[in-house]
Amino acid sequence: MQKIIDRFVRYITIDTQSDPDNPAFPSTEKQWDLARILIAELKEIGMEDVTIDDNCYVMATLPSNVDFKVPVIGFVAHIDTSPDYTGTNVKPQFHPNYDGKDIVLNKEKNIVLSPSYFDDLLLYKGQTLITTDGTTLLGADDKAGITEIVSAMEYLINNPEIKHGKIRICFTPDEEVGKGAHMFDVDKFGAEWAYTMDGSQVGELEYENFNAAGAKVIINGKIVHPGYAKGKMINSMLIASEFITGLPKNEIPQETEGYEGFYHLHDMEGEVEKTTLEYIIRDHDIKLFEDRKAAFQKVADDLNKKLGSNLIEVEIKDQYFNMREKIEPVMHIVDIAEEAMKQLNIKPLIKAIRGGTDGSQLSYKGLPCPNIFAGGHNFHGRYEYVPAESIQLATDVIVKIAEITAKRAK
Ligand SMILES: [Zn+2]
Repeated sequence: MQKIIDRFVRYITIDTQSDPDNPAFPSTEKQWDLARILIAELKEIGMEDVTIDDNCYVMATLPSNVDFKVPVIGFVAHIDTSPDYTGTNVKPQFHPNYDGKDIVLNKEKNIVLSPSYFDDLLLYKGQTLITTDGTTLLGADDKAGITEIVSAMEYLINNPEIKHGKIRICFTPDEEVGKGAHMFDVDKFGAEWAYTMDGSQVGELEYENFNAAGAKVIINGKIVHPGYAKGKMINSMLIASEFITGLPKNEIPQETEGYEGFYHLHDMEGEVEKTTLEYIIRDHDIKLFEDRKAAFQKVADDLNKKLGSNLIEVEIKDQYFNMREKIEPVMHIVDIAEEAMKQLNIKPLIKAIRGGTDGSQLSYKGLPCPNIFAGGHNFHGRYEYVPAESIQLATDVIVKIAEITAKRAK
């Protein structure tokens, strides 16, 4: 366990924050820093065919140790951390034998991680929690995933009595800016299916995610001196507020859960002459998703009709789709992960992701790719934490999946 913790700490103390505003790939140079370390480490533990391409995708192979044919499987995690919160100078804090009480992350700044707010902390009483010092994110998303994959490969190499087929692993850049799958060379990877190690709580196993679109609404107004504006001025901000209230008021993130979709206004900029609204549109069901986009467009069309001009422009762009459609024909890949957890006495928590993963895009690129827990909680902020025991369990799940895949192929 100490070895796993040390490995995890080594990864999280390297800043790999990605940048949504930089069109370069990868979006930040510093992601190479961790990629290079991973290359060296993978070679050192005895992985074969260790490569890094021009886009910062690290790949490696663990060869089969059986003489019969086993499907090639893969494991994927991402190198970058969220642009939402700083990942510079991460100073992990250790809380062994957690007692279920408040954890003071930062005395000076009075930052407390409390189970009265984050009640999932109580799942981990008696375990070793790894937290931040309250000034950065932790980066368990997704360096816990990387730690688990590297540690599982090392374990399989050191324990050749565990029989497995060929395993491919990949660490991708820029997942947090939605581009982790963009330059992923699925043919080069050459796996029949894979798993992203990028979920949260122990037991999570996910093969459904949102269908997703981004929408930009531009409202053009007309500026005139307010004293002489009667019948002339068009205030785009007021029209924007009509647009906003034209959408169903309960179909927003803070009012929805489970399979309920939503419209989310996440950015708004306005002056009299021009207002821009940026939305994301989400739904698990593809039919409801299409309906939702049509309804969005209709609010604009109706307003344009009412105003008698085309002041409102709407641009809707699909972002990713629910992987369920690609996973259902190959459900055995979910069954194998479920069985692996059960053999390890982990209760599988199968639920629909209210977001997306690299795996959803990979599934549409021909690599079916469910998501498995990596163990962390409260991603993308100062309250992020991960129990060391969860990293160990996810490592065990990877080893088990390799073992079961070979057993089923025999
Ligand atoms: Zn992640």
